[in-house]
Amino acid sequence: MQFGTKAIHAGQEPDPSTGAIMTPIYQTSTYVQAAPGDHKGYEYARTQNPTRTALEANLAALENGKFGFCFGSGMAAIDAVAKLLNPGDEVISTNDLYGGSYRIFTKVFQRYGIKFTFTDLSNLDNLSSLITPKTKMIWVETPTNPMLSIIDIKAIGEKIKGKEIWFVVDNTFATPYLQNPLDLGADIVVHSLTKYIGGHSDVVMGAVICSDDAIAEQIKFLQNACGAVPGPNDAFLVLRGIKTLHVRMDRHCENGARVAAFLKTHPKIENVYFPGFETHPNHAVAKAQMRGFGGMISFSLKGNSYDEALKVLTRTHYFALAESLGGVESLIGHPASMTHASIPKEEREKTGVVDSLIRLSVGIEDAEDLIEDLRQALA
Ligand SMILES: *Cc1c(COP(=O)(O)O)cnc(C)c1O
Repeated sequence: MQFGTKAIHAGQEPDPSTGAIMTPIYQTSTYVQAAPGDHKGYEYARTQNPTRTALEANLAALENGKFGFCFGSGMAAIDAVAKLLNPGDEVISTNDLYGGSYRIFTKVFQRYGIKFTFTDLSNLDNLSSLITPKTKMIWVETPTNPMLSIIDIKAIGEKIKGKEIWFVVDNTFATPYLQNPLDLGADIVVHSLTKYIGGHSDVVMGAVICSDDAIAEQIKFLQNACGAVPGPNDAFLVLRGIKTLHVRMDRHCENGARVAAFLKTHPKIENVYFPGFETHPNHAVAKAQMRGFGGMISFSLKGNSYDEALKVLTRTHYFALAESLGGVESLIGHPASMTHASIPKEEREKTGVVDSLIRLSVGIEDAEDLIEDLRQALA
């Protein structure tokens, strides 16, 4: 089955009781049993819910995985994966990381005796020297946020083959339409479904997808034991969003490329970060592991002035100033003060998150209007 067909059909059968073509919102907390333990596969809605089950099966199919698990947010999904670890374990992570992931690692899991090292994994020489017998997990985001660096998933997979190290990829930016980390050697994929997969800025949810039975068993246990599950209404909204994921992503990619090309020629702009540029340092890796370059772009201004950046951020009309990304509408953000405010300034600047850096989530409006909007904001 090809991607678009999976997006629309995987995990979803007409409702057995009525034939409803759309999976109903099973708004129930429990299920009646004929005799103790004699039930239809559903006992209690923290453990299982049919609307969530459909979504979990759909997500597993999209990522070419065997198992999918949904959580109340992307952070709750990340929390569950980090809970595979034990005190004393070590994690090697990308340094240019979603602010919330950096925060949960350093402010929560570090307190429980887990050690995190943040490094630039777009240069793999950094990896071998950091692996110790205590290394239990490698955590990668690619494209990275907000610098849009590309990390070679396959190369990392090969480097740690045979070692007892879980290889996790946060695939939120690329989406399963553009990149499938499990096919490239990752063990676990996490998503913030809040972003492209939901796609309509109307729900917060996360997911974990894997193919290994033992990992799946542990994630399922954590999902039920810790209980950060989404409700059926939200599962329905994400299922609905997914049906157009492939169509939306094509348009995000097309608009992203056009906006990036415009920014690149603008006299006030210092750097444009976009993996679709042939001049991007990891363009070859992006081309090999992704089917398109997405709609995320960052750029910095000549002179690196926060005040000048503020003018651009507040003058756009179609690009709304807001946290988040991946919705049908275009967003503009300031990583240093918004999504990455929880990362200390010196850490932030080391990775390129300077005061004039602006991040765009290019939506699926008409590219001409988006370019005109940026042109007047930059004037
Ligand atoms: C938003 C985001 C998260 C966190 O997801 P929430 O749904 O906001 O909890 C994690 N990783 C990345 C890359 C994100 O963009």
